[in-house]
Amino acid sequence: MHKERVFNFSAGPAMLPTEVLEQAQAEILNWQGSGMSVMEMSHRGKEFIAIATAAEQNLRNLLTIPNNYKVLFVQGGASAQFAMVPVNLLRGKTRASYINTGIWSKKAIAEAARYCKVHIAGSTEDAGFDQIPPAVELDIASDSAYVHYTPNETIGGVEFDYIPDTGDIPLVADMSSSILSGPLDVSKFGVIYAGAQKNIGPAGLTIVIVREDLIGEPLANQPTMFDYKTYVDADSMYNTPPTYAWYLAGLVFKWLKDKGGLEAMARINQAKAEKLYTTIDSSNFYKNPVVLHNRSLMNVPFTLADNTKENYFLEEAKLNGLVTLKGHRSVGGMRASIYNAMPMAGVDALAEFMREFEKHV
Ligand code: PMP
Repeated sequence: MHKERVFNFSAGPAMLPTEVLEQAQAEILNWQGSGMSVMEMSHRGKEFIAIATAAEQNLRNLLTIPNNYKVLFVQGGASAQFAMVPVNLLRGKTRASYINTGIWSKKAIAEAARYCKVHIAGSTEDAGFDQIPPAVELDIASDSAYVHYTPNETIGGVEFDYIPDTGDIPLVADMSSSILSGPLDVSKFGVIYAGAQKNIGPAGLTIVIVREDLIGEPLANQPTMFDYKTYVDADSMYNTPPTYAWYLAGLVFKWLKDKGGLEAMARINQAKAEKLYTTIDSSNFYKNPVVLHNRSLMNVPFTLADNTKENYFLEEAKLNGLVTLKGHRSVGGMRASIYNAMPMAGVDALAEFMREFEKHV
């Protein structure tokens, strides 16, 4: 058993900032003199409304979300958005364009295909999802209701180095594993969604940022809870929201603000990723398959030259307080997820461990 907190490289649920957990710990029995835990509060009481409103405001400030965008706090994970996006955005059209860059894109595509014709505007499947299609090669169907893409593929560790230009067609992004990793021009998007459990807070909460003009014409006969307008009209409290996850997300937004905001995060994230990729590239033992300019800053997959040593690597790493480095079951190998809450010290420790491991195996 570890006496200290470990460096947890999980892809999600992932590490949360220690300061945030300490604040939550300090407030767990009695939130700011209310005499109760946030978990025990009515979501309609003035205390929780204050927590919820402050969280949204801090998120709006961090991302400079324009006034014509709504922020929704929903459940069902990013996976529910795979369906909610077509349900809300088709609006009389029958086709949507999708860019296929990995396992999460494919899941979004499969779900959309239940509601409409999916046009594949670009795919790197034949290349083994080791890159992003160049912007000039995207082929967007002009009758698309929207264009969907996954800026960062969590499993493949492949990240877009550009925002697709879709003209007047709304752009939809699954930012589950890249939101808040750096500044973002929200005005380029129709919808942005992200499951919380990587860069936002605990699992159970999903953030949806949606442009106002895209709200209010869902497909007929859909569940009330699948209509964005339900959330807009009720400030995301049509039913009981995931209150504690919302509160913790608010603490994370505040922490990001205190750390200097998203410009500061982008600089640190760049430096953290560079350290790991340099360790990988300067060795003959480790390998990352992704083309250089599409390498993810958040998820760094790598393989060992001798894959029979994988379990040994994982066990030794664990003894050094470096955990959850096993790659996704669908691709194998290793993966280090290094979201905002992973400190530089964790990346330094991993890089050092990798160099030592290579020497003695
Ligand atoms: N999209 C991406 C890019 C993801 O990384 C994940 C989760 N790993 C999902 C979607 C699915 O998210 P959820 O589990 O919140 O449904």
